[in-house]
Amino acid sequence: MERVCNWGLYPKVDAVQFSAANYSEIADIVKANDTIIARGNGRCYGDSSLQKNIFSTLSLNSIINFNETNGIINCQSGVFLSEILNIIIPKGYFLPVTPGTKFITIGGAVASNIHGKNHHTEGAIANFIHSFELLIDTGEVLHCSKQQNSILFANTIGGMGLTGIIIEVQLQLKKIETSYINQQIIKAQNLAEIINYFEKYKDTTYAVAWIDCLAKGKNLGKSILYLGEHTKMGELNKNPIRNPLIIQHKRAINIPFYFPTFVMSRLLIKGFNFLFYNKHLRSKASNIIDYNSFFYPLDGLHNWNKLYGKNGFTQYQFVIPFENGLEGLTEILTKISESNCGAFLGVLKTFGPKETFSSPLSFPMEGYTLAVDFKVNNKVFQLLNQLDEIVLKYKGRLYLTKDARMKADTFAKSYPNGLEHPHKFSSLQSQRLKI
Ligand SMILES: Cc1cc2nc3c(=O)[nH]c(=O)nc-3n(C[C@H](O)[C@H](O)[C@H](O)COP(=O)(O)OP(=O)(O)OC[C@H]3O[C@@H](n4cnc5c(N)ncnc54)[C@H](O)[C@@H]3O)c2cc1C
Repeated sequence: MERVCNWGLYPKVDAVQFSAANYSEIADIVKANDTIIARGNGRCYGDSSLQKNIFSTLSLNSIINFNETNGIINCQSGVFLSEILNIIIPKGYFLPVTPGTKFITIGGAVASNIHGKNHHTEGAIANFIHSFELLIDTGEVLHCSKQQNSILFANTIGGMGLTGIIIEVQLQLKKIETSYINQQIIKAQNLAEIINYFEKYKDTTYAVAWIDCLAKGKNLGKSILYLGEHTKMGELNKNPIRNPLIIQHKRAINIPFYFPTFVMSRLLIKGFNFLFYNKHLRSKASNIIDYNSFFYPLDGLHNWNKLYGKNGFTQYQFVIPFENGLEGLTEILTKISESNCGAFLGVLKTFGPKETFSSPLSFPMEGYTLAVDFKVNNKVFQLLNQLDEIVLKYKGRLYLTKDARMKADTFAKSYPNGLEHPHKFSSLQSQRLKI
């Protein structure tokens, strides 16, 4: 038994972590336990990959094949996105979809049907999965694709590990000419302005806004929009860089210990948000930056979750349809800014349509999605219960991979189809939500 938690450091559970690289040994582990859940790198925030029996996929760490002609990579499910990037970038490829950290496994990416800053233009990772091998409750390994075991294929993408253990993944990559990004930065004074900018730049491949969740009144929704396109060779010539497909290794700062809980005080967060908003002096700017700075700014600070202290934090991420956008976001941001529960910068993005081949538990649907971090305490949980009501009122839902506290009836109202799955695979989350 060991104490295990995920990125939010809440909840913590006593669990047995099994591990094996041989597929028949994995089958034996699955058959020997009445219930079990797969765990990748534990970068989900809450209890999606926790329960008393965990199968850690980190030993499944081989890249099996990379076809440089058609850009399809075949790797075991415990391989990190960072490792994939190291291999594919020098060959002129990039991940078709990437989250805000590269320290997740490809199995975790499939199970959460991750989205990036390009959902509005290219969709979630579901759109780029050719096939995968899934170890099911009987111990059999099934090849799943749109043609073969197609229902299981769809149910597993965004299925939160409840259909089985993904063993290998075949993923279609995206061609790039350079590893740089043309970035454009635009400041918005309030919510109406940022919504207009999202609409105006809806054809730009990557778009994300950092939003000051403590701003009030006429500044409610004050934010900075970051737009991005992969830099073309011709565009780099103006800024001579010797190797256009370089892997940029940045030295990361490590947070060595848990900070005392007062560190994340409302005053400090207010000061941080002020500095962040004002670090860009002009209301519009553009530059060429490396892919790490654009996609993974938080990876530069290892273990930044420890800044929240030992009790941990939770991320509240919801999506609401476009037609309810301004009204719903206004109501939610007002509630947050008036709550006195310090909330760091929120991340606002837009989603395009739900992917055809994805689980009923998959999160993305057309609309606005906002993610906000809160330090865990009772007052915050009361606030989040109130936010749940508002999200439901505007026909939205919460992202399971970030959740640690939603109630079963909120889940049932927002994911009405649930997911039929073998009892063998369950997590603390699926038990709490009665999935
Ligand atoms: C800083 C940060 C930024 C993030 N940004 C984004 C973002 O922009 N977009 C986004 O979509 N997500 C984002 N996430 C969430 C993250 O991408 C997901 O939680 C991802 O699933 C984590 O993968 P993991 O390998 O750590 O898996 P875990 O966290 O261990 O598990 C996550 C889920 O996947 C299941 N799972 C894992 N491996 C397997 C497998 N081999 N077979 C079956 N099921 C499996 C688990 O059972 C669990 O349900 C972010 C997380 C962090 C910490």
